Amino acid sequence: MVDQTQSVSTENPVETQLYIAGESRPASAKDTYALHNPARPEELVGYAASATADDVDSAVKAAHEAFPAWAALSYQERAAYLNKIADFLVADEADVKFRSHLFCREHGKVLKETMLEMSRLGDRFRLSAAYAERLATDEELNGPPFDVVITRQPRGVAALIVPWNWPLSILGAKLPQALMAGNTCVVKPAQNSAMAPTLTLHKIAELLPPGVLNVITGSSSKIGDSLVKHSRIRFINFTGSVPVGKHIMQMAAENLTPVTLELGGNDAALVLEDAELDQGAFMRMYLGTFMSSGQVCMALKRLYVHHSRYDEVVDGLTAVCEKMVIGDGLLQETNMGPVNNAKQLSIVTSMVAEARAKGAEVRECGQVPDEELYAKGYFQKPTLIYKPDQSLRVVREEQFGPVLPIMSFDTDAEAIALANDSNFGLCSSVWSQDKERAVAIARQLEAGYTYLNAHGPTAQDSRGPFGGFKDSGIGRNLGYEGILQFQEYHSISGPQGWLL
Ligand code: NAP
Ligand code: MG
Repeated sequence: MVDQTQSVSTENPVETQLYIAGESRPASAKDTYALHNPARPEELVGYAASATADDVDSAVKAAHEAFPAWAALSYQERAAYLNKIADFLVADEADVKFRSHLFCREHGKVLKETMLEMSRLGDRFRLSAAYAERLATDEELNGPPFDVVITRQPRGVAALIVPWNWPLSILGAKLPQALMAGNTCVVKPAQNSAMAPTLTLHKIAELLPPGVLNVITGSSSKIGDSLVKHSRIRFINFTGSVPVGKHIMQMAAENLTPVTLELGGNDAALVLEDAELDQGAFMRMYLGTFMSSGQVCMALKRLYVHHSRYDEVVDGLTAVCEKMVIGDGLLQETNMGPVNNAKQLSIVTSMVAEARAKGAEVRECGQVPDEELYAKGYFQKPTLIYKPDQSLRVVREEQFGPVLPIMSFDTDAEAIALANDSNFGLCSSVWSQDKERAVAIARQLEAGYTYLNAHGPTAQDSRGPFGGFKDSGIGRNLGYEGILQFQEYHSISGPQGWLL
């Protein structure tokens, strides 16, 4: 176990373990892998356990054995566990601080955002628990010819796979829902941000009966397929990239395992000519775009502005970006940290280079107080690309970094067509002072979620189901609907008077 009185430092690397059948344990081959700080890639943060296929099998078996007793509890009983977890997650201030700092150092995001993720995870446990009564109510259909009760049953062992960018919030969109529905779970955090999520999951697992929640970390190339193809996995809930999502769906086909896939996004925001463009609006645009250095599935990634307001938006947003301080996320003055890893940085910089090479105006904004740190870490300043051609990769693809192309349009119909002209359909936003017009446009956008006069995680309501159209995925997480995905419908019918 980790000594929580120790500070996270290079001399004092953290080591995290697997959690299987109610106990913390090293990987069966005793292997670990190292995690480094993306702000200072030479700085070791710690080691996470590197699981094997045998560990995956043990975790799935433990979840399978724990399933009948967990499924037999009432919704109220499971809700009591969830509420206790929510309380416990924030009860120990020193521990929250320890995990937030660790998260900041292994991920790169600023401390404020790590704290936001921590609190959001607890909130989502509470929200799922609050649906207990509604979940316990079966639908009843009176005869003739029969009386029918439409009940629901948990699916069994669920594999929950999360990416590195927002691991705790994303866990909050599937783990409490899976548990509330009566499933037991095997969770696989991403390699690039494994330790703070794993320690948090250990805390949660300790509050549940053994085997209800199991955690495996390590390389997906070693354990990914063993997990998703395991014959005892009855549901897969994956959040990550489009190619891996497609691969998982293919693997799942072997056992006809149902999947929910939350994949990438390339969200458009439409700023109409009647939008209110004050400082608050520009700040919301900034946060919607650049939070977590733009590594957010639901970030604003394509900004379309009515031509009459284009210069105003460019000036306003550029002014906000220029004020931002880029550096080590642990420092109070830092507004934006590095990109999480070298591969992601190279994707982002290659898109910016293409935009420059094809003649678009590129402006890299913000203050860099420590040039030496900036040069060594995986940094990219908040970058705005003015009037790029619609064919550029930064417009067509998901940049997943702190870069925003800003385009213009003339009519509402053109704006809707541009927003929908994408393989993705995760989120979108409409900015206007006319609520009827904004809602009418929102209804025509191909997206799982549309914000009005805001965009991104700070504007999201966790009661709304969340997920995407097209390449953005299949199914929905969060809200009441997010719990139902972890259940199978079961109709029971009999002669009139037998059931109702
Ligand atoms: P990724 O490469 O697809 O990985 C996601 C997760 O899947 C990681 O835990 C990864 O483990 C695991 N994985 C990879 N191959 C696997 C396999 N064969 N079997 C089982 N698991 C496997 O995505 P990422 O780079 O971590 O995250 C960035 C992407 O996620 C972006 O495209 C972003 O838009 C998307 N995302 C979507 C949402 C949403 O809600 N729609 C939210 C956040 C992020 P390893 O780390 O070990 O490879
Ligand atoms: Mg894009």
